[in-house]
Amino acid sequence: MSTLLGTTFQEPTKSPALLLLGQNRDLVSERGVECAGGLPAASDPDLVERARVARAALGDRAFILGHHYQRDEVIDFADVTGDSFKLAREAAARPEAEYIIFCGVHFMAESADILTSDFQKVILPDLAAGCSMADMAAINQVEDAWDDLVAAGIAEQTIPVTYMNSTAAIKAFTGRHGGTVCTSSNAEVALRWAFDQVGGVEGTGKVLFLPDQHLGRNTAVLKLGLSLDDCVVYDPRKPNGGLTQEELNRARMILWRGHCSVHGRFSLKNIEDMRAAVPGVNILSHPECKHEVIAASDYVGSTEYIIKTLEAAEPGSSWAIGTELNLVRRLANAHSDKNIHFLDDTVCFCSTMNRIDLPHLVWAMESLVAGQEINQIVVDEDDAHWARVALDQMLALPGL
Ligand code: SF4
Repeated sequence: MSTLLGTTFQEPTKSPALLLLGQNRDLVSERGVECAGGLPAASDPDLVERARVARAALGDRAFILGHHYQRDEVIDFADVTGDSFKLAREAAARPEAEYIIFCGVHFMAESADILTSDFQKVILPDLAAGCSMADMAAINQVEDAWDDLVAAGIAEQTIPVTYMNSTAAIKAFTGRHGGTVCTSSNAEVALRWAFDQVGGVEGTGKVLFLPDQHLGRNTAVLKLGLSLDDCVVYDPRKPNGGLTQEELNRARMILWRGHCSVHGRFSLKNIEDMRAAVPGVNILSHPECKHEVIAASDYVGSTEYIIKTLEAAEPGSSWAIGTELNLVRRLANAHSDKNIHFLDDTVCFCSTMNRIDLPHLVWAMESLVAGQEINQIVVDEDDAHWARVALDQMLALPGL
């Protein structure tokens, strides 16, 4: 057990079968996919110096993006940190950088490739850095679901909206069907826009929301005033999504059965326990959490909102944060004048995000210095076009 400013949380159980990353017990499993050649050992005492040397050698040819949920050892080498959307825009704002090294997950690197010029190459240091939420909506499943909506006679009154945390193929699907991308910051604006395309929030039109059911439900109910009964969940593993014609007719929000495996862990009990343990604590949660958690939280918002809220908080105030642990730990260290707790009582890293570690970053940079372009993320031209249409629609929404 260890503590984070008074909150106890358990270290991950060290199971020999798991061969924990960084232990150098199983270099093959540590490599990830397509990480050939000289992946440095995590125990290499010269690793930080190797990273510095490679970074200096790349100079302005490379721009390194670090997502908020990355490990400290990686963030130390990031030229800019942010959420997925901010990072994709930062990449697009650096047209002189030949290499965009994206320390995040696969769908983020895809978005960066879509938004940057053909000259720029987006590198993901470990191709195994995926996102469980994005993987819950495969394009063939979503196309089959759309066929179900067509067969049910409701496709024409349905606008697809996809969360930024989705594959390029899903963003392209959304663009092809007149929809938009949204972020956790602008989901309300995006949903209002989508409903306006089919008669307004007070009308009878529908939104197909992908792939995070929680963000879709939380926004529809708490921001747009729809009821929980207006929301149905489309399960791609069941015929017709597990929904009857009557349920599809009645629904205003058709939520894809996807969720974030990190934020989905927080529970109402976590909040009850925290309020009992820390009188006056403010609960601040990310909208990817379950509805019951969001409904019981004091503040709800994206990672950027969480960061700004803590910056503006009174010294001495108490906060429990429902988001990824690397970020919460950094915020706790940065705001030692406030009492910042982690909302869960067990460790809650994003395991796929954590695939990017210093050995992989060093390997990626040293490979580029040696003239080897590794792990480049390239989005198919047609998908890139239609995904860009959906992203441009988002950029045209007010408030961005
Ligand atoms: S925190 Fe959740 S949504 Fe973000 S990359 Fe990890 S699994 Fe995906």
